[in-house]
Amino acid sequence: MPPAAATSSREDVLARYEPVIGLEVHCQLLTRTKAFCSCPNRFGGEPNTLVCPVCLGLPGALPVLSREAVELALRAALATRCTVHEVSVFARKNYFYPDLPKGYQISQYDQPLATDGFVEIAGGDGSWRQVRLERIHMEEDAGKMLHEGQPWSGQRSGVDFNRSGVPLIEIVSRPDMRSPEEAYEYLTALKALLLYAGVSDCNMEEGSLRCDANVSLRPRGSERFGTRTEIKNLNSFRNVARAIEHEILRHAALLDAGETIRLETRLWNADRGETVAMRSKEESHDYRYFPEPDLPPLVVSPAWVESVRASLPELPADKRRRFVAQYGIPDYDASVLVLSRAVADYYEAAAQAAGNAKATSNWVMNEVLRKLNEDGREIGAAPVTPQALAELVKLLEAGTISGKIAKDVFEKMWASGEAPGAIVAREGLVQVSDESALQQAIDAVLAASPEQVATYRKGKTGTLGWFVGQVMKKTGGKANPQALNALLKKALDGPA
Ligand code: ADP
Ligand code: MG
Ligand code: ZN
Repeated sequence: MPPAAATSSREDVLARYEPVIGLEVHCQLLTRTKAFCSCPNRFGGEPNTLVCPVCLGLPGALPVLSREAVELALRAALATRCTVHEVSVFARKNYFYPDLPKGYQISQYDQPLATDGFVEIAGGDGSWRQVRLERIHMEEDAGKMLHEGQPWSGQRSGVDFNRSGVPLIEIVSRPDMRSPEEAYEYLTALKALLLYAGVSDCNMEEGSLRCDANVSLRPRGSERFGTRTEIKNLNSFRNVARAIEHEILRHAALLDAGETIRLETRLWNADRGETVAMRSKEESHDYRYFPEPDLPPLVVSPAWVESVRASLPELPADKRRRFVAQYGIPDYDASVLVLSRAVADYYEAAAQAAGNAKATSNWVMNEVLRKLNEDGREIGAAPVTPQALAELVKLLEAGTISGKIAKDVFEKMWASGEAPGAIVAREGLVQVSDESALQQAIDAVLAASPEQVATYRKGKTGTLGWFVGQVMKKTGGKANPQALNALLKKALDGPA
């Protein structure tokens, strides 16, 4: 096939076509044991050390459903506002692959655990919208092929069954997303929900969160959906967005050339930045689903559902609304702060201690999150406590230190874990607001720069900033900017 080169620009494509995106997310549950046996659910063990007759699919071994797995699946279903069905049914999904020793995967098919939920996503402009969920069902993970990293790699492949039987939920969205950015936002919001609810560690590198993306285009204004392709092998949210972007342009080039889209599964190649055909949906297996005879229908009593609902923490969207109402911070700030429950807690503690909620939110979003990111640390390991950050905000608010000094003090707090008051006192960083001290510094600068003074007085008043900078330098950044500005103007504009 000729390379479906982007003959049209992105803007041109998006002016004519509307992308339609639906995501399928597989998520490993944070249980102690596997779904149907008592083997530990743990990542990273020596291959085939976390196995038993049940998860190896040996003849005669019978599955027993883990109550903890159901509990976590329920938490996910309720956190995404799904309707939980009192009776759901496990089914066998039959196919052959070396990592599936039973020859079938226990899943749920026409009677899933939960249906019809939604995830709220940020529009970026303060707006919020819902991406609806079709369903959440329970299933088990398969084993893993070992193609590399072994002494015998290159000659042979192995199979590791440690992952076989690990409990999963599959979360299927409706085709409600309209751009790669929206897909990214959806995954970010869904991950936050799953982390809040304690459902999964959502670690993509370890495979506890996996995503397939379905993409189609339709002419703008058309109601009918176009034919979709399904993209697999997406190992990060960024790659999900990149792959969707690529697929949108590929579909557009084909449609513009008068060709039709084939309903097929494609693999994302992150190195090449493109998708390649894997199998067409017509070739795809007939899974011959039938009810799992070794497991009774799953019955979840309304009382159980209500007790799980009551045990959920405040969820991100509710927390965001509360932050806006209670602290008066912008919706954007709130949406960033609530992405992680620990960050939200840190912010609240700091804001309450500091008294100025917006200033605190700026510090957390711009400085704390930046440093955590730089260091690759979690907020629990931040060397600056919420109380210490609040103290810094108060020193700045009270005019004791300048904004520039505050940034420096923050860096020092981060490096040493010291309280800001101690650093300011020891290093003599208290802001200079005292008029005579500032005037002295101003006089010295003006005396040393006769040419610049003359230029200013000829009308080039835009050079005021240069003088501010000079005096700041002289005072080691400690001059109170408002006081300095006023005094400088008086000195320059007044009689020579
Ligand atoms: P399959 O078994 O083929 O993967 P599923 O029902 O499990 O089908 O998942 C279908 C996914 O594809 C859902 O996330 C749904 O939102 C999405 N989808 C369905 N139709 C379209 C379409 N025309 N364009 C984009 N996505 C679609
Ligand atoms: Mg599917
Ligand atoms: Zn087992």
